[in-house]
Amino acid sequence: MMRQYDLVERVKSYDPAADEDALNRAYVFSMKAHGAQLRESGDSYFSHPVEVAGILSDKKLDCDSIITGLLHDTVEDTVATMDDINRLFGPDVARLVDGVTKLSQIESQSDQTKQAENFRKLLLAMSEDIRVLLVKLADRLHNMRTLHHVGRLEKRRRISRETMDIYAPLAERIGIRDWKDELEDLAFVELNPDGRLSIINRLDFLRNRGGDLISLVMDELTGTLKKKGIRSMVSGREKTPYSVWRKMQRKNIGFEQLSDIMAFRVVVESVEQCYQTLGVIHSRYQMIPGRFKDYISIQKPNGYKSLHTSVIGPENQRIEMQIRTRDMHEVAELGVAAHWLYKQGNYTEGKQYQWLRELLEILEHADAPEEFLEHTKLEMFADQVFCFSPKGDLQSLPRGSTPVDFAYAVHTEVGNTCVGAKINGRIAPLRTQLNNGDQVEILTSKTQNPSPAWEGFVSTGKARACIRRYVRSQQRKEYISLGREITEKTFRQHGHEFRLKAIKAVLKQFVLGSTDDVFFDVGRGQLTGFDVLIAVYPEMKNGANPVAQAVNPRLGGDSDNAVPIRGLIPGMAVHYAECCHPLPGDRIVGIVITGKGVTIHTIDCETLENFTNMPERWLDVAWDVDSATTHVGRIRIVLANEPGSLANLTTVIGRNSGNITNLKITDRSADFFELLVDIEVSDVKQLTNIVAGLRATPEVNSVDRDQH
Ligand code: MN
Repeated sequence: MMRQYDLVERVKSYDPAADEDALNRAYVFSMKAHGAQLRESGDSYFSHPVEVAGILSDKKLDCDSIITGLLHDTVEDTVATMDDINRLFGPDVARLVDGVTKLSQIESQSDQTKQAENFRKLLLAMSEDIRVLLVKLADRLHNMRTLHHVGRLEKRRRISRETMDIYAPLAERIGIRDWKDELEDLAFVELNPDGRLSIINRLDFLRNRGGDLISLVMDELTGTLKKKGIRSMVSGREKTPYSVWRKMQRKNIGFEQLSDIMAFRVVVESVEQCYQTLGVIHSRYQMIPGRFKDYISIQKPNGYKSLHTSVIGPENQRIEMQIRTRDMHEVAELGVAAHWLYKQGNYTEGKQYQWLRELLEILEHADAPEEFLEHTKLEMFADQVFCFSPKGDLQSLPRGSTPVDFAYAVHTEVGNTCVGAKINGRIAPLRTQLNNGDQVEILTSKTQNPSPAWEGFVSTGKARACIRRYVRSQQRKEYISLGREITEKTFRQHGHEFRLKAIKAVLKQFVLGSTDDVFFDVGRGQLTGFDVLIAVYPEMKNGANPVAQAVNPRLGGDSDNAVPIRGLIPGMAVHYAECCHPLPGDRIVGIVITGKGVTIHTIDCETLENFTNMPERWLDVAWDVDSATTHVGRIRIVLANEPGSLANLTTVIGRNSGNITNLKITDRSADFFELLVDIEVSDVKQLTNIVAGLRATPEVNSVDRDQH
């Protein structure tokens, strides 16, 4: 274990202004707080925070980060409190320790359903101060190094999985490559011991066959470059078993073909020398086509720069080469952290490290967040998708969510006024299902209202509730105006003047609060216009009531006389269900509704669930194949909003002898229509042909039979 003196010396070696006193106090505080606690290995617990601080000092991190490393488990695992930390080490350290502690708490909830939310919190915590993540990664690295002491296999595997899925990608993302490599390889030990062992054996074999190729190549390269006047530092290493494994998986190469196991690095003085060196290497060894990458002219998002190439080296071994300057090397080795440390040159004043802010900037803006998400494997969060606003705000939504869900998640008003969406910069229909990492831009218009059709495809409770609320209020408005119309007409027919005041005066009779309530009830058929009339003019009570029946056209059902269905009771009225629009060829069932007759549904209609406990209502029926009746099938079409697209649509339907009986635009944006089209057909086969024909039409985005 590193001693107190060693740690302080190490920090002072790269940061002479480090607060020596605070470091010493943190060391002692942590030692006392952890006291006699032991780790599963039997080591004193205190060895862990000291090692974490050591790992952080390898990366030349600032004094507060090192202190946080020493203290990071004291609040979680000992009697020490946040107040103690704040009092003894100041608010900055307290905030960092608090951040790391919270991350640890998030981590300990292994509940799958919480992981998506945890991931969001993780992103949030890191975005507040990247040092929280650095300390957390160092903590995880040391825990992985000592993971073999953990007794329970299941726990080891869970921690390894999480390391592989979250922490290694995060380490890569902020450019700390050696942490990433080590985290992956340590997790690989637990997750696939057999795979790892077979790679190690293969590596041994290749090594034995080739002899000490690494030093051979190193000597040869250094000599060749020296002759060309290039001073270089060449180093070589074997790749980690996990990186070899990944390459085998990715490139789908077999074990026998596995040959490029060595990587060499050439560090030179200038950018020009990088390209000169590349030339020397390519003329000395045969290059492997397709492997050259120039990360100097196009640097990686995390700041990494190098030239990469692969060549056939001595003994016919494929070897990888990285060529870079010393500046680039610092960045590659120490992550973005070092880059700014180096550039800044002056870190003696103990001021906020500029690179932290710059790194945060990168995480927040400069880079495509989807790449970040791609790197952190999101399969873990299979039930969630993570999408971004153009500003980079993250929304986590249930899988299957659409731009409408996204809009409502941003704000109710955004949802209510949503007219269209751009996904990754391209206009897409509102019913498009979002994918992980999609950038979603919602287009709004003040004049737009929620469409009832949205309810058919949204996934979130919030969106559904908002749409329903709107639709209900909208329906109410329609019923009110219909009811008022009916009432006015009734009054007129009976020679009475329609006056709101008169109706208001008799509200009590209906136990209703307003005239609108009365019209609403008339509109939906709860009351008749005549009921209202006799409330106002009781003397009309014995008069004729010619309009009492069937005043509300919406209440009428469609009954068909030429019944093409077998298995019915004679004289029974037949209706075709509006929910599923059954067609000859569909498997069907009849549901008996007392006083109404039989309603025919398709066998897979969702409405049937309401009748599962009423077997007495089910009627076994079948289509009469000889009947020549026509039926109305309903299809839902999403169509590009272009000139002529509607004409093409009707042409295709007409060509298949379909007769359009009704066409309703249910949703309309600048770029897409959504339509419900009722088509008279003889059977389901004909409708299927029409659907197929429409799908082959370029302007048609999607077609489905509407059977909600
Ligand atoms: Mn820890």
